[in-house]
Amino acid sequence: MSASSPSRREPQLERDGSPDANERSDVPKVADEHYEEIEGPGSKGVGLFAKHPFATGSRIYQLDYWSRERMPIHVTNHSCDPNAVFDEHGVLRSARPIEEREEITYDYLRHPIPASPWNFECECGAARCRGWIDASGGARP
Ligand SMILES: [Zn+2]
Repeated sequence: MSASSPSRREPQLERDGSPDANERSDVPKVADEHYEEIEGPGSKGVGLFAKHPFATGSRIYQLDYWSRERMPIHVTNHSCDPNAVFDEHGVLRSARPIEEREEITYDYLRHPIPASPWNFECECGAARCRGWIDASGGARP
């Protein structure tokens, strides 16, 4: 990814800890024919969920962090054992079959985004969970 430091206001992405940014009603929720943003179970806040099954390698969305205030990337949660990965073109693709209504996740450490120096305790529940996600290394100006 070749994101140079964006100069305009960055969306707040405090998805683990502060739900404030996800409770604003003036920003349309993310949805298209492939996925939708819905409130996840427990305290995870919102997430991106599949509206239909995806076969392995299916295109989910093109990485775009800056075009609108709320993009699919903004509501896609981290997992240490994700079901989706970004390819070399910045397209998020399913890494294994994804079922309808399954949450779509990717690995924040494998695909760090400069605008979001994540640093949080992980609650992804994966057997291989790293426990703490610190993607801030080298990402700050
Ligand atoms: Zn984890």
